[in-house]
Amino acid sequence: MFQEIDPHKISFNETREPASNDYVVSVKYGKVLFKKTNDEIDIPLISDFEGIDLKDLKYIMTVEKSNFYISVEHISLPDMEYGKLLGLLHLDSIPQEIRFAASTCAHLATWYEDNKLCGRCGTLTQYGKERNELVCPNCGRHIFPTIAPVVIVGITNGDKLMLTRYAAKGAYAHHSLVAGFVEVGETLEDAIRREACEETGLKVKNIRYFASQPWAFSSALLMGFWAEADGTEVHINADGKGELATAEWISRDDIKMESDESSLTWTMIKRFKDNEK
Ligand SMILES: [Zn+2]
Repeated sequence: MFQEIDPHKISFNETREPASNDYVVSVKYGKVLFKKTNDEIDIPLISDFEGIDLKDLKYIMTVEKSNFYISVEHISLPDMEYGKLLGLLHLDSIPQEIRFAASTCAHLATWYEDNKLCGRCGTLTQYGKERNELVCPNCGRHIFPTIAPVVIVGITNGDKLMLTRYAAKGAYAHHSLVAGFVEVGETLEDAIRREACEETGLKVKNIRYFASQPWAFSSALLMGFWAEADGTEVHINADGKGELATAEWISRDDIKMESDESSLTWTMIKRFKDNEK
């Protein structure tokens, strides 16, 4: 999965000073800045901003010898462009540990950008004492990064797995599992039962945890579970919202693996196909 970067390790050295070969993850309205030279796309380095005073640079993390800073100033340079954060997932020309670190930085940078002003009183916020903390100098509010919990559930029916496809134009095109954001006031199990019912009309039982995945692209933490169907009759989009285009039981032997090996969803489908769940 995307976050599996062994043997590389993420570490923190907050006393260090920026150097020319350190990465800069700059965000603008949820997009991230890429450097484009001769069809090559890369994450910019401090040396790429010669002549520009990056005065809001903030150190975030280190991966081996690579250091990552964020900037929430909007930067305009001829060979740079803000693009979709999800681009970091697929840019195979950049090592995975660098892309994963950059995506984590982009999640944090987006949070910093979204919290430049205190949401309670509208005053400009300041960096706090803790790592990744903002403080409002007017009302004293301490603001910490937000992570949205998402459940993904592999619903099984003997040797069949419930596979779905999203209906929205531009949505993830490959097979998915039932999934959704956890709502305020819900347990993870509540969210699983609700999403299963809303998307497929199925009741589920014997919920078991599988694995989790940080998913910076939607500021989320994905949590994967297995559950058994309690009854097999599918009523797609039972909530009437039309989120899915298809929801079908597919036998283990008939599952065709589609791309995105880096995702928790792919990993779960593969585990089921290989009868290893
Ligand atoms: Zn405030």
